[in-house]
Amino acid sequence: MHNWLLPHKKLLLEQINNNTLPHAILVSGVSGAGKAILAKWLVSVLACQSTKLNLDDSTIACGMCKRCKLLHSKTYPDHLQIDNEGKTIGVDEIRQANQFIQKTAQIGFRKTLTVADAEKMTIPAANALLKTLEEPSDNSVLILLCSDVQLLLPTIISRCRLVELRPLAGNKLLAQIESSTSVKETDQAYVNLTHLPEIKDDNVARDFAEFQTALLLYLKEQKGRSLLTKIIADNPYGFRWLEKVIVNLMRNQQKLTSNEHTNVTNKLEKLNSVRLWDIYQLILNSSKQLKTLTQANKQFIVEKLVIDMSRICLLEGE
Ligand SMILES: [Zn+2]
Repeated sequence: MHNWLLPHKKLLLEQINNNTLPHAILVSGVSGAGKAILAKWLVSVLACQSTKLNLDDSTIACGMCKRCKLLHSKTYPDHLQIDNEGKTIGVDEIRQANQFIQKTAQIGFRKTLTVADAEKMTIPAANALLKTLEEPSDNSVLILLCSDVQLLLPTIISRCRLVELRPLAGNKLLAQIESSTSVKETDQAYVNLTHLPEIKDDNVARDFAEFQTALLLYLKEQKGRSLLTKIIADNPYGFRWLEKVIVNLMRNQQKLTSNEHTNVTNKLEKLNSVRLWDIYQLILNSSKQLKTLTQANKQFIVEKLVIDMSRICLLEGE
């Protein structure tokens, strides 16, 4: 489980051992990639009085010492966790965190601050955090977690050591899914990665199937534009589904997948990998626009994307 965390753990342990652990670490990865698991592990190892550094994945906090117990009961004074359930992380929370970082450690060697969902920081909050990043206090470690570094200020990113968590993808993921013998195992393989609701929820699964049919019909015959636009714009998963189906088609074109999708590819044999790649780039660009433009007119961006996709499909006949 979470095998992809091991090299990161190893590197962090080496840095602790050599006293080269960065003051600020930015952990990025999709939901389910293990950001919080890695952060929690690092905090516990830094707090524990008797962690034995083995430089491998067997290194864990002892769980028995005073600091471990305090950390476990969430009363360890030298760790602060910002785990905001709300929509944003405001400037007041970050100011408090700054004050926490400026103080000397009470019982530990180091103070640790974890900010989950760092992309939720408002601009004033991010600017407040910058002060601490620019003038780090001794023996403090900031751990920022975020799902997409593009959503953070470049000035924040540039002052952190980036740790990118990349769960299984592509061939490895497909191999894991294909080698799974039961639905439950397959579920696990997906759920651990991105908590895909279409695998856990029958209603969402049905909606996804409908979407896939609508998308394939559109790519093939340019029919059903308004339905497709509506799903992508209105369904909370619509955009990700679009990316997923196109990526699946691309994988098929590269002859990487099981027979299950081959029927789909046959129907779309005219849509060669170059066209799919062009469509994929359109999706990525639109996705970027939706994330970076404030007040982005989602409907407009999606409508344009769907029309541009059909243009690429039509080019194929020329
Ligand atoms: Zn301990």
